[in-house]
Amino acid sequence: MSDPKAAKAAKAAMKALRLSNNKWSVKYFAIAIGAIMVLFAVYHWSSVIQFHYGRGKSYPTLTRKYSSRMGLRTDRSLLYIIYWAINLILALTNIDLTKLIDVSKRFGWISVANLVLLVFLALKNTPLAPLTATSYEKLRPLHKVAGYTCIFTSVLHGIVYVSAWSKIGHLAGMKEHEIFVGPIAGCAMLIIGFSTITYFMRGYYELFYMLHITMFILIMITVGMHRPKFSTSVVIIVIFTACLWTLDRIIRGAKMLWNFFGNSLTVTALPGNALRVKLSRRMHCSPGSHAFLWVPALRWAESHPFTLLSSDPSEFVIRVYDGFTRDLYKAAQEFPGISLRCSIDGAYGQIPNFKVFEKVVLVAGGSGASFTFAIALDLIEASNKAVKSIDFIWVVRHRESLEWFAQELNQLQSHPEVNLIIHVTGQTDLSGTSSSTSPNSSSEKVSAKDHVILTESSPAILTSDPEKGAEQQPTGNVSSSVKGILPGRPNIDNLIAAAAAGSARLDDRIIVGACGPSRLMSTTRKAVDNELLNDGPSITLYTEEFEW
Ligand SMILES: Cc1cc2nc3c(=O)[nH]c(=O)nc-3n(C[C@H](O)[C@H](O)[C@H](O)COP(=O)(O)OP(=O)(O)OC[C@H]3O[C@@H](n4cnc5c(N)ncnc54)[C@H](O)[C@@H]3O)c2cc1C
Repeated sequence: MSDPKAAKAAKAAMKALRLSNNKWSVKYFAIAIGAIMVLFAVYHWSSVIQFHYGRGKSYPTLTRKYSSRMGLRTDRSLLYIIYWAINLILALTNIDLTKLIDVSKRFGWISVANLVLLVFLALKNTPLAPLTATSYEKLRPLHKVAGYTCIFTSVLHGIVYVSAWSKIGHLAGMKEHEIFVGPIAGCAMLIIGFSTITYFMRGYYELFYMLHITMFILIMITVGMHRPKFSTSVVIIVIFTACLWTLDRIIRGAKMLWNFFGNSLTVTALPGNALRVKLSRRMHCSPGSHAFLWVPALRWAESHPFTLLSSDPSEFVIRVYDGFTRDLYKAAQEFPGISLRCSIDGAYGQIPNFKVFEKVVLVAGGSGASFTFAIALDLIEASNKAVKSIDFIWVVRHRESLEWFAQELNQLQSHPEVNLIIHVTGQTDLSGTSSSTSPNSSSEKVSAKDHVILTESSPAILTSDPEKGAEQQPTGNVSSSVKGILPGRPNIDNLIAAAAAGSARLDDRIIVGACGPSRLMSTTRKAVDNELLNDGPSITLYTEEFEW
């Protein structure tokens, strides 16, 4: 018979070894992911240096062809493969794979490591923004992938654990309080996972968001309770993660509070189911940035992201959908000139400096033009810039949508550097008489309830002047003054090829900035991709999308 003391000591040593191996896997996970982030930062800053000091050297043809063949989105897939390889290697290294308990525990640790990563990638005020010029919204796909990996590994952790315990007949141990909270965390993760189905997320965004936050808090509490001993370090990792998240929330709250005092908005209803919102306070931000608008009188628990058309005063052009935007539209209609207390959390977005490029091509669809107008107006007002010409391409479904940016259109039209290309896709009559206000035919997603609004709306701009009350101002009918409006969709391929061909020198640099529906964005990406196959000037692409 073996010595029970020695057996106990051997078991303790085995446990200690397993714990140290598991800690090793998390440590190397952090090192590997940290190294990738450092590589991105180095790549970004070396590109910036190369851009500013590498003049005269033409963009290497080989690199152009290589990046084109790879496709602009392939880099992300490569990143995912590296990330999953790191997960797999660390899940299977320094472990006795014949012991199910060890395997299951390792999956648990890998899951916790991914939990830290996914929270880090979700921070709005992320250190990656200044370091890698990547704003939080560009990190969202990575956050999602880290989230799915976290869910997958935690489910594996649970399944392998249960099968290991059932083998040794120890399933009754599941009733222990510490163990029991594990499956609760797993269920909360699964709920988050299922709620990210596009249909649910886009259709019930507010519900999705509330679920996300409550389930996340539940996960943090239950994972902490699952492994509460400080000696095992899991609870320390959980506390660290919770601190990261809370700090981000505190910063966001502080921004909201700072922008709340003395701030109010006035809303102007525009034809074609849109609004123009003007805030009384200005913002310090670069053009093209966005901010989260909070109007407590309408929806106290919600804030929504909108791109700043201008920052002094802060102004947004908003397309009306079903929830918050519909309430804002109703307020504008029922109480013209109404002033509502509001605040904003922002600004966010790492927008490239368009001023350092010789040629700028801006492509927008519908209300995505908030982004391109903000960039274009800033460029024409700037004195210190390399920009020689701007191609401004705007695609709208209805001619009346041109009224959304009437003043800005006139400014651009009269500027010699700007080549205005406007396409109206939803109607063939380009005489200036608007033919349709049907929300259902809009190129952008419109809610089923929109008819409620539209039956009340008129193709006139409601005054935002409180003195004038409900009086309505006729529109300036900008569409008749804008020259060269074209029917149908633009050929983005041709337009980008023409911009590249029109460059005076091979070392001229072109930037394409695009914002709008995802199909327009993918067409633009492909067009840039195709153009990169030809010998010609270097092209930088920056896209913004309004849907997560
Ligand atoms: C970075 C960014 C900038 C944007 N800029 C503009 C802009 O300048 N002008 C403009 O008209 N729209 C813009 N949008 C879109 C705008 O945020 C949504 O249309 C708005 O939040 C819809 O709110 P709702 O409650 O009225 O709509 P709902 O009918 O509830 O939803 C309509 C759509 O908006 C999405 N959505 C709803 N709430 C949010 C939210 N809080 N965050 C993100 N998406 C949400 C939903 O998934 C759904 O697909 C931007 C979005 C993003 C992400």
